[in-house]
Amino acid sequence: MIDFPQDSDFYINNIRDFVPSKIFDAHVHLYNTKHMNNHDLPNINTPQNVGINFFEQIMDQFLPGREIQANCFPFPRKTLDLDLANKYIAEEVRGKPGFFHQMLISPQTSVRQIQTMVDIYGFRGLKCYHLFSKRKITQNSLIQEYLTEEQVEFANTEKMTITLHIVKPKSLADPENLEVINRFAKEYPNMIIILAHAGRGFNSWNTINGIDSLQRHENIFFDTSAITESGAFQAIINSFGHQRLLYGSDFPVSHILGRCIRIADEFIWLTAKTLQDFSKQNNINGVVPTLVGYESIMALKEAAVLMNLSVNDIEDIFFNNAKNIQAFQ
Ligand SMILES: [Zn+2]
Repeated sequence: MIDFPQDSDFYINNIRDFVPSKIFDAHVHLYNTKHMNNHDLPNINTPQNVGINFFEQIMDQFLPGREIQANCFPFPRKTLDLDLANKYIAEEVRGKPGFFHQMLISPQTSVRQIQTMVDIYGFRGLKCYHLFSKRKITQNSLIQEYLTEEQVEFANTEKMTITLHIVKPKSLADPENLEVINRFAKEYPNMIIILAHAGRGFNSWNTINGIDSLQRHENIFFDTSAITESGAFQAIINSFGHQRLLYGSDFPVSHILGRCIRIADEFIWLTAKTLQDFSKQNNINGVVPTLVGYESIMALKEAAVLMNLSVNDIEDIFFNNAKNIQAFQ
């Protein structure tokens, strides 16, 4: 159903001794595909019901023996019924100590609706996404087109987190993105902004080039989710300090085989399929890819080794940094 490497050698040789025993996973998608049209998921073959039990079961194979807590939210899809997906998430994490949930919002979600859902279901944060922007090519959306000022203001009043996956070709190096993040962080100091995917550093240079224009507000954090090259992590650790970096698996994206690489000014996903086609066309023995989730941990390990992070620093990234955020306590 979900991809796994063919054996556990890669884990034993590379991951086992690096990952601490306590993990707070800041970026987890849980969902039931009956809340969307036709299993509307990008290249992921998962069962219909990807709930907390499934997550725990898979994570126990992925990182055996760890104590895991998490911040969970729906899988944003264009066809998703947000209301059903949010209620589902709330049901899933209910009564699970250490598990928190963010409400998936569109720009049409009113503050009143959010307030009601928070009162009933105890959401600790908001998750916005470009797919709900009105722009034709949503990947070019301005932040304000999928996260409204009123929503940020609400998050500030309630001391909530907001997981923000920015878009536009230059990601964090885009002046309009930078301007809005700087302003929101300054004007709404009680909300915590978590820039997903290391500020969408799939092409590391966007994070490297943009990060120094980001003001050092204390409410700006980054998650590591699905980033498989170390440049963006190094830029964050260098500029903001390791305490602003939060481990995130991006489950179930963590369980795709392959990785994302920078190429020219862009990035591409190398999946098991592309690698197979490449091997066939070039008449070479196939390269056996491992999980995106392991590749991302390898990128973090690379940053940790090259920047001489201590064992304590690594424990902070995997657990303590998130637990210092009030919404995750
Ligand atoms: Zn994600």
